Amino acid sequence: MLVIKNLHASVEDKEILKGINLEVKAGEVHAIMGPNGAGKSTLSSVIAGREDYEVTEGEILLEGEELIELAPEERAHKGVFLSFQYPIEIPGVSVTNFMKTAINETRKAQGLEEMPANEMLKMIREKSELLEIDRKFLSRSLNEGFSGGEKKRNEIFQMAMLEPKLAILDETDSGLDIDALRIVANGVNKLKSKDNAVIVITHYQRLLDYIVPDFVHVLHDGKIVKTGGKELALELEEKGYDWIKNEN
Ligand code: ADP
Ligand code: MG
Ligand code: MG
Repeated sequence: MLVIKNLHASVEDKEILKGINLEVKAGEVHAIMGPNGAGKSTLSSVIAGREDYEVTEGEILLEGEELIELAPEERAHKGVFLSFQYPIEIPGVSVTNFMKTAINETRKAQGLEEMPANEMLKMIREKSELLEIDRKFLSRSLNEGFSGGEKKRNEIFQMAMLEPKLAILDETDSGLDIDALRIVANGVNKLKSKDNAVIVITHYQRLLDYIVPDFVHVLHDGKIVKTGGKELALELEEKGYDWIKNEN
């Protein structure tokens, strides 16, 4: 699904990612952990193609196709989804209407026709039931006055509707309470399948009590310095990150 080779990236001429190698297969959930400032959000931004980040070396392949030269929207249309740490508010546009537009834009870019209205409604109904999202929530204005938990619910709903091949959830948000963590975790657990892959970025070991990753990677100073199974998250919980920094 995703292969990253020797990825180096800079922000304002400062090298942040210093040679990342990562392979994520369909059906897998990977957690990327690490101390503040390690480059976790930079990595997610670089995969999604956000501006401000310059890739200076390396490859990012999605199903064998190089992403680096593609615009963020093109990557999204190919099935890359990045959760928004700071979602925009759009007064007067409901969660549902925003989603309808996003889906049809994506289909258009993929050369498909608009989704028929009845099919769209059916999909909205199914996905919102799966995620236990209330009808009232779907008619609210996008992000306007949303609580932390509601923002997460909206993100997970977007992910459910867009059915990405690769979902990257960057959960560094400082305001993540236990409800928001549960919403994210339940969503990921319900939406993961043998055909998609999920990368969860977090410095909260707590999140991984709810989402069981197949692999845990520790990012430190722009490099993956350790990879293990879910037990690595527990070890980090116990010992913190210093022992890993000292190992390297
Ligand atoms: P993490 O998510 O692991 O906490 P980040 O990727 O946010 O780490 O940040 C890694 C380093 O890159 C930090 O030193 C941060 O200050 C710097 N950085 C990230 N994004 C930018 C940016 N847009 N402009 C300037 N510096 C940035
Ligand atoms: Mg940070
Ligand atoms: Mg971050």
